[in-house]
Amino acid sequence: MNYIVLDLEWNQCPAGKAAENALLRFEIIEIGAVKLNETLAETDRFREIIRPQVYRELHYKTKEIVSLRAIDFKGARSFPDVARDFFAWCGEDAVFCTWGSADLNELQNNLAYYKMPSPFLFPLLYYDIQKIFSIFYEDRKSRRSLEYAVDYLNIPKSIAFHSALSDAHYTSLVMQRLTPGQILANSSVDYYQTPENRRQEIYLSYETYSKFVSRPFRDKIQAMKDRVVISTPCCKCRKNAQKRIRWFPVGGSNYFCLAHCPEHGYMKGKIRLRHRKDNLCYAIKTVKAISPEEAYEIREKKEVLRLKRRLRRKFNNDKTL
Ligand SMILES: [Zn+2]
Repeated sequence: MNYIVLDLEWNQCPAGKAAENALLRFEIIEIGAVKLNETLAETDRFREIIRPQVYRELHYKTKEIVSLRAIDFKGARSFPDVARDFFAWCGEDAVFCTWGSADLNELQNNLAYYKMPSPFLFPLLYYDIQKIFSIFYEDRKSRRSLEYAVDYLNIPKSIAFHSALSDAHYTSLVMQRLTPGQILANSSVDYYQTPENRRQEIYLSYETYSKFVSRPFRDKIQAMKDRVVISTPCCKCRKNAQKRIRWFPVGGSNYFCLAHCPEHGYMKGKIRLRHRKDNLCYAIKTVKAISPEEAYEIREKKEVLRLKRRLRRKFNNDKTL
């Protein structure tokens, strides 16, 4: 097995959103990657600039971030050629690591734009080193810049950030401050391709929580009626934890609930409903073991939301009188 530490640079429509190509918002202009073996030692590197086909000029933001200039694209190959060579270089037994959750999504978008077959398995599990840095060095929730992590770990900054290869290189150095076990126990799911049916639904379990990704539903209401979506299996023993507070909306397309396992205590359920490109929606559910204090906070949150709703209703009624 090899770890492929990947970083991409991309460009967007220089003339603004109104003029952009709806099929390709972000066009990849550089692929950089570092290959690590099972012990996290570097064995190889890949770097190639890609000649843009859709947005030939660089957006001002791209110019600010990326060190590439027009001259660098002279003689560069197009995305299909570079992508084919890149995946051949990755090899069959690659696991992908990125800083943040965007790169693999954009890579698949670009593959789809050029009607290239996806080389990824379903579901696509990968390692988000930004998240894993937060799990082991911070509070699990914060998401820091790569440069912050490099400074935090006292890694010497020998080359500039924000080229695809230098960012892949720095990400690999952050990984070398972790163990393979720490990385492999904390996979992420890529949501570019989500389950099409019940059989493909994704179940993952981690040390402190479990994750479920559902098949598609027509709308939110259908999703929140589905017995599998709204179930709350204990994240430790998988037995059904009994609801203490049923699912309630907390804003956006998010829902919380509180459940209790006789053996493992309180569980916080969270559902995020997301839209797919075909406008159907799917659910991402996490069930996490929590303390009685955190369980109390969920009760309080629900009560505050109920009072707010009541006040709003009263205010609207008063206005119509
Ligand atoms: Zn349990």
